[in-house]
Amino acid sequence: MQQDEPQPVLVSACLLGRRCRYDGGENGDRVLERELAARGQRAVPFCPEEHGGLGTPRPAAWIAERDAAAVVDGAACMVDEHGRDVTAAFLAGARGALDVCREEGIETAYLKERSPSCGVEHTHVANVLTRGPGVTSEVLRRAGIEVRAVEGRRRLPE
Ligand code: SF4
Repeated sequence: MQQDEPQPVLVSACLLGRRCRYDGGENGDRVLERELAARGQRAVPFCPEEHGGLGTPRPAAWIAERDAAAVVDGAACMVDEHGRDVTAAFLAGARGALDVCREEGIETAYLKERSPSCGVEHTHVANVLTRGPGVTSEVLRRAGIEVRAVEGRRRLPE
């Protein structure tokens, strides 16, 4: 990368206004967009769950038990609200995120807090908000990518 090229960063696509949430909505965060621009960073949007083959809208899903580390290690599953095992799709999405980071030389990711994929500090386990990362955050963190939590939906002051 040339020195004057903007530094690429991975960003949960829903934080950039893409309607890729499980319910068809988005979490566009104008404050994040402004901060990235001010730092000269180039946002690379990515939605792990769509990448993993889950359509939009899609059933809500969560870590069935334990934590994201157990899912990545093959010791726990992801389930959706209908009780279906969606582990493979979540892992495919997480690996896709890591592939993009490696292809683009990305070292930092801004990810939507509380998502079963993108959550950084909190996620959902057994459909309960729980301290700990989602599956994509766990995979990126293990690979040495810095993951930062973004709540989303912040507006610029009038
Ligand atoms: Fe996709 Fe992550 Fe946003 Fe969920 S939080 S819609 S997985 S980008």
